[in-house]
Amino acid sequence: MGGETKPVMPAAHFPRLAERPVGKQISSIYYDRLRQFTSTGQYESHNLMAKMYEGRASGSDWVKLSVYSPPNLARPTFDEATSHEFRDTHVGEAFGPSWSTHWFKIKLTVPAELRDKELLEFHWDTHSEGMLWTEDGVPIHGLTGNGERTEWILPDEYRDGEAHTFYIEMACNGMFGNGDGGTIQPPDPNRYFQLTEADVVAVNTEARALYIDFWIVGDAAREFPHDSSEAHEALQICLSIMDTFIAGGGSNKTIKECREIARKYTGNVDSAKVYDGDKEALVTAIGHCHIDTCWLWPWAETKRKVARSWSNQCDLMERYPELNFCCSQAQQYKWLKMYYPAVFDRVKSKVKQGTFQPIGGSWVEHDTNMPGGESLVRQFVYGQRFFEGHFGQRCTTFWLPDTFGYSSQLPQLCRLAGMTRFFTQKLSWNNINNFPHTTFNWVALDGSQVICHMAPSETYTASAHFGDVKRSVTQHKSMDQDATSLLVFGKGDGGGGPTWEHLEKLRRCRGISDNVGLLPRVKMGDTVDDFFARLEKKAEAGTKFVTWFGELYFELHRGTYTTQANNKRNNRKSEFLLHDIEYLATLATIKDESYRYPKKELDFMWEAVLLCQFHDCLPGSAIEMCYDDSDKLYKEVFKTGEKLLADALDALGFDRDMSSNNPTVAVNTLPWQREEALLAPGMRPGVFKDGHGLMEWQHPCAQNLEVATIEETSGGDYVLSNDQFKVTVSDGVITSLYDYEADREVIPKGGKAAQLVLFDDKPLFWQAWDVEVYHLESRTELPVSKSFIKDRGPYRVSVVTETQISENSWVRTTISLAASVTSGKRRTAAPSYVELESEVEWRESMKFLKVEFPVDVRNTEASYETQFGVVRRPTHYNTSWDMAKFEVCCHKWADLSEHGYGVSVLNDSKYGFATAGNMMRLSLLRAPKAPDAHADMGRHSVRYAIMPHQGGLDHRTVRAARAFNSPLKLRKHPEPHAVAPLLAALKVTGAPALVLDTVKRGEDDEDVATGETMPVKGGRCIVARVYESLGGKARGRLEWGPIPVKKAYVCNLLEDEGEKVEVNGEGIAIELRPFEVKSFKLVL
Ligand SMILES: [Zn+2]
Repeated sequence: MGGETKPVMPAAHFPRLAERPVGKQISSIYYDRLRQFTSTGQYESHNLMAKMYEGRASGSDWVKLSVYSPPNLARPTFDEATSHEFRDTHVGEAFGPSWSTHWFKIKLTVPAELRDKELLEFHWDTHSEGMLWTEDGVPIHGLTGNGERTEWILPDEYRDGEAHTFYIEMACNGMFGNGDGGTIQPPDPNRYFQLTEADVVAVNTEARALYIDFWIVGDAAREFPHDSSEAHEALQICLSIMDTFIAGGGSNKTIKECREIARKYTGNVDSAKVYDGDKEALVTAIGHCHIDTCWLWPWAETKRKVARSWSNQCDLMERYPELNFCCSQAQQYKWLKMYYPAVFDRVKSKVKQGTFQPIGGSWVEHDTNMPGGESLVRQFVYGQRFFEGHFGQRCTTFWLPDTFGYSSQLPQLCRLAGMTRFFTQKLSWNNINNFPHTTFNWVALDGSQVICHMAPSETYTASAHFGDVKRSVTQHKSMDQDATSLLVFGKGDGGGGPTWEHLEKLRRCRGISDNVGLLPRVKMGDTVDDFFARLEKKAEAGTKFVTWFGELYFELHRGTYTTQANNKRNNRKSEFLLHDIEYLATLATIKDESYRYPKKELDFMWEAVLLCQFHDCLPGSAIEMCYDDSDKLYKEVFKTGEKLLADALDALGFDRDMSSNNPTVAVNTLPWQREEALLAPGMRPGVFKDGHGLMEWQHPCAQNLEVATIEETSGGDYVLSNDQFKVTVSDGVITSLYDYEADREVIPKGGKAAQLVLFDDKPLFWQAWDVEVYHLESRTELPVSKSFIKDRGPYRVSVVTETQISENSWVRTTISLAASVTSGKRRTAAPSYVELESEVEWRESMKFLKVEFPVDVRNTEASYETQFGVVRRPTHYNTSWDMAKFEVCCHKWADLSEHGYGVSVLNDSKYGFATAGNMMRLSLLRAPKAPDAHADMGRHSVRYAIMPHQGGLDHRTVRAARAFNSPLKLRKHPEPHAVAPLLAALKVTGAPALVLDTVKRGEDDEDVATGETMPVKGGRCIVARVYESLGGKARGRLEWGPIPVKKAYVCNLLEDEGEKVEVNGEGIAIELRPFEVKSFKLVL
């Protein structure tokens, strides 16, 4: 049986005889040949590159140039600059030095032979950045230099044969500053930039399009698997294009034919229509421009970078309707509004159209390791309020593509600030372990989660290469759950954003996906929010995204917890200052109706502190100029802050100076009682005890104050003791720390606590950023050369030790023990501690200074304070993940505890720490030479303490560390008893792990709000923020004493009212999850 089989006849024309030998293509040679078509060099005048332009006009007949060079590296405004005389100049002249500005006046006439050409551009290259301004002072186009973004499309009205005038503001820096002999090297202050091109150019648009066709089809040939038919086809298409071009002599007609050949592979890619059609696209491409708020250039340059970059994007959107562009950092928008209102309005109109998308919800793209909890809160408060106030929308995606690791409470804070999504990619830089997910749920210490996506292309500055699109799937690690991904493209770090080339390349990639397949389909026109919304929908429909609990520890840049110590110290100090001002100013508004809550000044201070938390500023990875800037700004912050503090204390009735006969009191701004012996300069020794809010001075004799004693033994050792500890200092280090009550030695046999150690510190590349694991091998103990007694008691005893590090560097450390005021109830009160204060003269090169505390405590995990909580990290090197954490970030304390006993190390300004086995090590100073050649050189002062404690880690450490950073403020007050109830009014009772962290007035209150960003809402309230600090469910009461609170609500970080809470007497009952942050609005 069988059907009718039709015989297949041989093709009639298939030749019988082989005409000539035909060889198999030698693959490597034919691949290499592709380069000939578009490369510069020996074939440039014969290949496609020779056909890119149809005409060019240069010289003063067509482009007449004059220049004004402002003195003293000034960056004048347009009006100021153009009011000066301009002198003639010409192509070939060089301008400088580094960081100077030069204003060019350009009179341009299009010659007759170019007027009818399809596309006319002005090409300008000074190998530095620049901004093009219209004659009447509107900035319209940013220039990058060095052959990149050097073109400006001439408006059609320029084709009239008349001379047209415009200006270029030239900045004497490259996109990445002025690094001397390498990008991250310190700037060369004396760089000059030559003007090499100022031409009118007619572009051969088809040749330009063919260039991109050939690039992308060539990439398909190279990057598709070589065993795929798609790769072979791409190669043949490219070879055919080259052969056709050669055969036709590269004529315009031939170029059109070549494009036809390319279309066989790409389809028609000459418009945004390529994205029409509803086939499923796995890759959502989004334009982006990462502008480091400071890095290898100062803030002043960033302001200009923002205007350059964003005006170009607005322009690009008009020519490429598929472009959606997102940009973060409210600070940059604010600068744009202040200095470039015309560009800001242009951005605003694009935001309205939906193509320009503010994202991130934070003030800057900040570091997340070191800012305090409330700083993280305010990044969102100031960011979201700016975006809402100016664009009518809050962000839903937290955006930190470049920040150096992500602390564990961020998901909780995001959720409390209206954001459910998080984007980054930085963990792809890990140099030890490969982070295992790209799309997952990231879970905070309290259990809150956000959906996190890390772009599989592993970049936030993709050049929209074929390979970026391909890697969006090949490097996707979460495809079991979902295969979609974001492709974030556009020049970045120094600004820039997408270029027309990126957009042309992506059109071709999409064309290939639709026409040939194999390449993941890329779509444009969606927002980041659209992308995340689809993931959330999927989760709703049952997709179980993988979870990651706790911090996203970044396995690189561990030196950033220590570099630029002064900046970090300023951060810590300003955070505490801001806390105290807000707390006291809030109380002052209750006491004194005429007192004005200093919202405007607080906004200035917060915005400054938040700015300095930018991810190259606070971590210490910027150039010296940036730290000159931040030093100046912090100085303003402290000056303003001291005044605000004094004003608030005035309003509360305190005396301005200490000379009156009024009673001496200590102001305690912490929400719990303190008991401290205080030796104020020029005062009788006093004890401040049992006080909450206001603590009265009491004569030590009236107290059961155990004195501290010191003696020098015959062997030259010093023994310091109070009623809790006996401390032996031998050869300048602590060789014994005996806890009387626990009857326990804290230092292991042979151990040396407070030992200064020096490490050789030469990371693989990123000096200021990295400390590499091998630095540990170079540990050298620094011997103490001299020690002597400084304080002999009875309230404080101390020994001074002197250590010479090298010829130019030394450390002088004061080891002290204070009299204990907690006699008789040690278990409940703050334990005593051994305090150390080191003054360091630091003149080293590529060295790392640390101080060690070996302790007789054993645990496989140590605890470190993080924002609103505790992170536990291994003390061993079992796995590569454990070992990667050889240097970690802590806030005010680190703790190593075993069952029943432990030791905390407190600090007043440090963030780097390591616990290896039973060795606790506080990182003090580094000495990187790039990108700041003088980082950390000079004098430093740091306080730290070793605090042994019976029992495990608990609220005593949390409170002691806070008090250690918040010394009591001594003042005089005529009637302390009258103001004491108000100062003690706000507190949390119940579980001691509950911390009343922040007290402030409502952002939108009628007597507080400035109305500048957001409308004044009216009403008056106090916002109180509480968190659970140790990781257990906690109940208590938030109390307000005599403050006339009418109603209470739970609110989020943005102070939106949530559920009402029943007021019960002068307070409310509260209950918090482990590590929960909860804010309350107390309506007055
Ligand atoms: Zn960055």
